[in-house]
Amino acid sequence: MSSLDTKVVAITGASSGIGEATALELAARGAAVVLGARRTDRLDALVARIRADGGRAEMTEADVTHRAGPERLVALAVERFGRLDVLVGNAGVARIAPVADLDLDDWDAMIDVNLRGVLHGIAAALPVFRAQGHGHFVTTVSTSGLKIVPTQAVYAATKNAVRTLLEALRQESTDGVLRTTSISPGYVRTELVDYVEDPAQRAQAQQAMATLGISPEAVARAIAFAVEQPDDVEIGDITIRPTRQG
Ligand code: NDP
Repeated sequence: MSSLDTKVVAITGASSGIGEATALELAARGAAVVLGARRTDRLDALVARIRADGGRAEMTEADVTHRAGPERLVALAVERFGRLDVLVGNAGVARIAPVADLDLDDWDAMIDVNLRGVLHGIAAALPVFRAQGHGHFVTTVSTSGLKIVPTQAVYAATKNAVRTLLEALRQESTDGVLRTTSISPGYVRTELVDYVEDPAQRAQAQQAMATLGISPEAVARAIAFAVEQPDDVEIGDITIRPTRQG
């Protein structure tokens, strides 16, 4: 029996990229996975694929910008599997532009998904973790917060806000009930930058991802490593980037 056979893991942003790869990796290692995102057609297909491979999976529509999204995800895990061991707060959006562009709508979108969305996940799962006596928050932040570069100011700020949040939560939770893990990927080949509005910025980011990016499965393996540790071992931070990334 793998150490993940006993785990129930909910994942936000599970409909593509790192979230999808994490769902497949953890399910293959025996975890029951509960998947949330807005594109339910993709989640349906993913659940069907995991079940066809003998895994356990459930899905629900879960927009993390509304409190009700993560609440529904956590409630589904408890209803179907009796508890929730891990919440992977992975939903995220990236909008790339200089601050001087003053694109307030994009700033709001990143704050709402990347920061407020993680807070909504914590609010939904923390009471369950406390009642159970154990729980693990894994969150996808970014190397954008470690090496600050132009055009990623607000994106990096949201990611570093989450890093700060998890560290404070860790220090508030040294009674052994909670574990927190921040995963900082570098370039990963996903759809993340396909939604950047400016065509030149989008093309540049897509090019960097295509030439440098590692596979989302690499990040999924890092997440699995953090999740499969014994309860008294907390992996606080993992940075995982292409070997050739500057
Ligand atoms: P993708 O665009 O492939 O995945 C993003 C996921 O977030 C999708 O499943 C999307 O689902 C979901 N999402 C977006 N908005 C919302 C919302 N309002 N509510 C719920 N889910 C939402 O990109 P990645 O896999 O790359 O991104 C995953 C995480 O990894 C993000 O937090 C990103 O910032 C981070 N990251 C990515 C890096 C990279 O190079 N790719 C590098 C460092 C960090 P849907 O649209 O169906 O709701």
